[in-house]
Amino acid sequence: MIKFAFQIILLNMWKSNILIDLKHMYLNDLIPIYGKDESLQMLNILIGHYFGLSRVEQTLKSAYKLSESEMLKLHMAVKQLKKNKPLQYIIGETTFIDYKIKVNEGVLIPRPETEELVKLILDNENLSDLNILDIGTGSGCIAIALAANITNSHVYAMDISKKAIETAKQNANINNVNIQFIEDDINKPSSKISHNFDVIVSNPPYVRYLEKSQMKPNVLDYEPEIALFVDDHKPLKFYTAIMNFAKLFLNDGGRLYFEINEALADELRQSLLEYNYDKISIFKDINGKNRFVSAVKVE
Ligand code: GLN
Repeated sequence: MIKFAFQIILLNMWKSNILIDLKHMYLNDLIPIYGKDESLQMLNILIGHYFGLSRVEQTLKSAYKLSESEMLKLHMAVKQLKKNKPLQYIIGETTFIDYKIKVNEGVLIPRPETEELVKLILDNENLSDLNILDIGTGSGCIAIALAANITNSHVYAMDISKKAIETAKQNANINNVNIQFIEDDINKPSSKISHNFDVIVSNPPYVRYLEKSQMKPNVLDYEPEIALFVDDHKPLKFYTAIMNFAKLFLNDGGRLYFEINEALADELRQSLLEYNYDKISIFKDINGKNRFVSAVKVE
């Protein structure tokens, strides 16, 4: 009897097009993979994104009836979440600090650590009249947040990937900031850059292949390898390429800001010393890991 009643409830659930029923059903599907809090948060975001319902509205309009196409959208999204696809790629956007950033599998999903990198720069720089270059801009998140917060800044953003440049351009437009984009490879730069920068910032690929086994499938299966990984034997390759570039294009007294692999802070400090940088500082991220480095160029 109990079994029978349960089946009827289940049948009704599947047949229901009522928001709260669907939410419960999908929550049960996702909890084994993501746990309760994250599953609920993801469903709230999906429902907000697809149906324009805020959290409060989702509670007040819990009897909201979804159309067939709406049900299908939600169903397909949950199906992708079950295959570890990041929510940000499913809905095609995320928020970085206060900025809406479009993302796709050609660019890394902006990380909270990188928000901290931007805050570090904004806390240490004068917030006007700076020439800035972001190397390996990806979605453009760093360049956009800097351009939006520094008045009269000239922000340039470089990436080797055409897809990344396209995405970053779109994001600059959405956020109403003016950025000059440069498609180039920092390891062998060929672009004609006609002036110098006060600040060069970069969050380059810094995960060594030897660390791959510690990474989660949502990252490994969906995020661009080119934005994440670096050769085990040359883990500072991008940083040295940037320091070589900076010999020509960073003003004396100009600042470098890097996001780094927490295991490589000392090695990078050493390298910066060899390149004659001054005031080398290492900063921890919110998890207490060595995550950022800043340094000042001397003549
Ligand atoms: N922090 C990123 C991660 O853990 C890596 C970012 C990078 O390589 N620049 O996936």
